[in-house]
Amino acid sequence: MSEVRGVGPVRCRQLETAGVKTVLDLLQVVPSRFEDRREIGLVGEIRGPGRYTLRGHLRDLKRIHLRRRGMSLVRGIFSDSTGDLEAIWFNRPYLVQQTRSDTEYLVHGEVRRKDSGWQLVNASVEAIEAAEQGEETASSGRFAGRIVPIYQTTGGIGHAAVSRLIAAAVEASDLENTVDWMPRSLLERHCLPPLGKALAELHRPADDADVGALDRRTTPAHGRLAYGELLELQVELALVRRRRVRAAKRHSYRHDTDALRRVRAILPFELTAAQRRVFDEVVADLTSAFPMTRLLQGDVGSGKTIVAAMALVLAAESGLQSALMAPTELLAEQHYRALKNILGSRYPLALLTGSAADRAESRAALAAGELPIVVGTHALIQEGVVFRRPGLVVIDEQHRFGVGQRSTLQEKGEDLDLLVMTATPIPRSLALTVYGDLDVSVIDELPPGRTPVETLVLPAESRPKVYDQLGEQLAAKGQAYVVCPLIEASKAIAATSIEGLEEEIHRRFAAYRPLVLHGATPADERDRIMSAFAAGDSRFLLATTIIEVGVDVPAATLMVIESAERFGLSQLHQLRGRVGRGSGRGLCIALHGPLGDDARRRLDIFGETVDGFAIAEADLKIRGPGDFLGTRQAGKPLLRIASIVEDRDWLEKARDDARAMVEASGLPDTERLLERVSANPRFTGGGLAGG
Ligand code: ADP
Ligand code: MG
Repeated sequence: MSEVRGVGPVRCRQLETAGVKTVLDLLQVVPSRFEDRREIGLVGEIRGPGRYTLRGHLRDLKRIHLRRRGMSLVRGIFSDSTGDLEAIWFNRPYLVQQTRSDTEYLVHGEVRRKDSGWQLVNASVEAIEAAEQGEETASSGRFAGRIVPIYQTTGGIGHAAVSRLIAAAVEASDLENTVDWMPRSLLERHCLPPLGKALAELHRPADDADVGALDRRTTPAHGRLAYGELLELQVELALVRRRRVRAAKRHSYRHDTDALRRVRAILPFELTAAQRRVFDEVVADLTSAFPMTRLLQGDVGSGKTIVAAMALVLAAESGLQSALMAPTELLAEQHYRALKNILGSRYPLALLTGSAADRAESRAALAAGELPIVVGTHALIQEGVVFRRPGLVVIDEQHRFGVGQRSTLQEKGEDLDLLVMTATPIPRSLALTVYGDLDVSVIDELPPGRTPVETLVLPAESRPKVYDQLGEQLAAKGQAYVVCPLIEASKAIAATSIEGLEEEIHRRFAAYRPLVLHGATPADERDRIMSAFAAGDSRFLLATTIIEVGVDVPAATLMVIESAERFGLSQLHQLRGRVGRGSGRGLCIALHGPLGDDARRRLDIFGETVDGFAIAEADLKIRGPGDFLGTRQAGKPLLRIASIVEDRDWLEKARDDARAMVEASGLPDTERLLERVSANPRFTGGGLAGG
């Protein structure tokens, strides 16, 4: 890095925090937008607001003192042969000293309407002589009359300084002769420029470049960088996958007709075609020589649990032990009850959660190989539970399951079969990014007799009417959930709380024996409450989002979500998934307080569609991928250049190319790419290429 002018130890440290360690990393900081400064306008010809490049003189610059601390304002006049223009700058007090009335300047900035005329705001200022000699001034870029790349603040370094550092890096590197690590054949296949050429096009756009395409990030140069980044990621995932798929497992499953008949014997209903197809895929994985790593996606209520139950029974029939893990104790308890119901006493079963009384006994039975199936929370595996003959691990409702966690699990269980189930808050593009190493099954069909949940989005003022309606519907039949974001009323957060509603609900709905459930409810009490509600002894449950995932009470048809603006879109969809799980039509009413733009968009979409895939896509667009992807290490995003929303086509190409490359090998010219990936792993501890 030290060969770049302006990069000392301090800058180095700052850049490192943004994941920029080498000159090449620095060169891959892509401009966030481009300014077209090729056309020089005239003050007298300004006809509307917008960005303008102008050439002329500056005079009467004065610093205006503002009351607000830490803010400064400079005001002055810019003029050319056609007229005068008021100009202001925020936080650039040095301009007063640095500009001279006898110097000609090139300025570029936003012109906006001011009273009867126009005002130039925060323009960049560049002395003409300096620009013509290609020199820098403290307050300018070096790109007068050109298309200028604008960079974002990086590692706490301001955008103007980033721009200077990158210009210095471009100068210090021989871009034309930069060796590209990407195999030539792939560049040719996708008609992409080599790395050096792509970097040059972005950092020094040609005068005849397409500014629109640059700004939209659709140039071949952007394509090269985005595809390159995604390819690295996908090659790493493909290597993880190969390593796993190569280790033959030591246990095996029966799949003779007798075993499969016994598995089918547990079914309380007929499977949907989608469930049957997915179960066949799972059986094919289980009976193959290599461990299964399959992601099962299916919208809320699509019936994933029964597919898992069948796999657990097949393992038990094969003399193997398996674990079903859920994200919350509540859900683990429910799975335990449901499995007990389905399996009866045919297969011994234990619940192993933090609060389960007979932990020691269950652990001993597992270690002795006497217990075929155990249900618990996700912590189950981490806690050093020992299995005598482990076979299968099923993880339910896992919305985020990093490759790192996958590796841990694999290390613990060596060659365990793994089935991860999720209610699809993951759009396909994300699944490819985070789960690129897994095989994916989808249940894309709901059990018969379901009608989509009717959804109403109403302002909080409608509450009295909504609760009247709830009373009428309950009088006829069904069970109801009311969900609040808070347990206790809060001064700081304007949202409905359980505490605030409890009294009224107990009074109004006494006939339905309301129960209250939240995170602070003690475990044994929780179990009693959920059982009572599931059995219909109580027909009214006032709860927090503790019921968000997985809770399955088919007779519940009514839901009111209080302060719905406080919930994310996927969360709303999950909550709504608690009703309409049986044959009765579900009704979900979202009450909301004052709405910002994002909240309004979320609730609009929520009211319009019940399709989990569509919801997940919309959520991704509103929130961005950060929430789903998490970050690699504190502050370092998984992707710096590519966007999984906009570069989806590249993502799919990268996945296919990476798998083909790693699985078939034999593609020439891949050494540099493989080296790069193992030197800079994003998901794993490295050392993959050899595995
Ligand atoms: P999820 O995919 O959200 O985990 P569940 O597995 O909890 O969904 O299933 C939702 C409800 O649908 C459960 O009450 C389950 O018993 C029922 N169900 C699942 N599959 C079928 C089917 N093929 N026919 C009828 N009901 C089904
Ligand atoms: Mg479920």
